[in-house]
Amino acid sequence: MTLEQKIKSVIRDVEDFPKLGILFKDITPLMLDPQLSNEIADTILSELKEIRIDAVCAIESRGFLYGMLLANKLNVPFIPVRKKGKLPGETMEFTYELEYGSSTVEVHLHDVKSGWNILIHDDLLATGGTAAAAAEIMHKLQAKVAAYAFIVELTFLGGKEKLNSYTDKILTLAKY
Ligand code: AMP
Repeated sequence: MTLEQKIKSVIRDVEDFPKLGILFKDITPLMLDPQLSNEIADTILSELKEIRIDAVCAIESRGFLYGMLLANKLNVPFIPVRKKGKLPGETMEFTYELEYGSSTVEVHLHDVKSGWNILIHDDLLATGGTAAAAAEIMHKLQAKVAAYAFIVELTFLGGKEKLNSYTDKILTLAKY
C-alpha cells in the first residue's frame, strides 16, 4: 500500500460535521498509529530535504499535532498560528474573508526572525484561505514561505492556486 492509500484507509469521514453539508476529514485516527505518524512526518521531510527550513509554522489546532513533530525532527523552532485572542504576547495578525464573514489569525511576532525560511503546515488544505493568511503574516514579519505541507488536500476547492504566489513547493499527501 502507498502512503496515500494508508492515510485514506485510516482517516475517518464524518458527514455533516461540524455543520450540515460538510464532509469532515478526521485525522485523529492517524495519531493512534505511531509508525504511520512517523512515516507521514518522514515523507514530508524527505520531499523537502533540498530546502532550508528555519522554522515550522502550523495552524490551530489540528496543524499543531504534526507541526510540532516536524519541527522536532528538523530540530528547528515551532511557531503556532492561532485564532485572534489566544496568544498572550505581542502579536502580528491578518484578517481574511470566509464564505460568511471573516476570521483573524495571529502569531507571537517575536517568534519569527527576519529572513527566515518557513515551512507552513496544516492538517488539511481546503480553500487555502487560512494557509494564505499564515503566509501573509510571515511576509509582514519579513520571513519567506519555503514550502507548504498538508496531510490532506480537497483538490476540488482549488486551494493550491491560492497558495502558488507564496511558493511553488506545496506538498499534499492524500488527495481527494
Ligand atoms: P481553508 O482555509 O478553507 O483551506 O480551511 C482549512 C482549515 O479548515 C484547516 O485548518 C482544516 O483543518 C479545516 N477544514 C476545512 N475543511 C475541512 C474538512 N472537510 N475536514 C476537516 N477539516 C477541514
